[in-house]
Amino acid sequence: MEPFGQALCANCGKETAKAHLTSIHHGIKESRFLCESCLPLADPPVLQDFLAKLQKSICRFCGGKGMTTDPIHGMLVGNEEMRFLCLSCSREYLPLLGERLGAFNAEIGELSQADQMNKLRAAANDIEAHMKKWVIQRDN
Ligand SMILES: [Zn+2]
Ligand SMILES: [Zn+2]
Repeated sequence: MEPFGQALCANCGKETAKAHLTSIHHGIKESRFLCESCLPLADPPVLQDFLAKLQKSICRFCGGKGMTTDPIHGMLVGNEEMRFLCLSCSREYLPLLGERLGAFNAEIGELSQADQMNKLRAAANDIEAHMKKWVIQRDN
């Protein structure tokens, strides 16, 4: 099982991924994280679909204009439905997520899959609670 939350670009492996794209090939769901510079390499229909969704998206915390996808959502529930973050919220959210998942990846080998999901969910809930408070403070 791959470590959670690396969210590095699947193509170059260097940049932090901006987009979590899913496509169905012959009935098999494929999921890829791509950074901004590698995004044009995605299948045109998948890319267009993603960009159209991004255009219309709103931030799940503050309702601002969506700029990037929320990577943890795809890990928890699959990626049928994407959730988005605005730039301001993503700057608060993504480093926090990285921190929690970094600590988590250190012990991942010792945990059962069910425990891994429980821990991931707990981390997601904590960050969610933090973001709700943070948004209120930011907007006041
Ligand atoms: Zn890349
Ligand atoms: Zn926001």
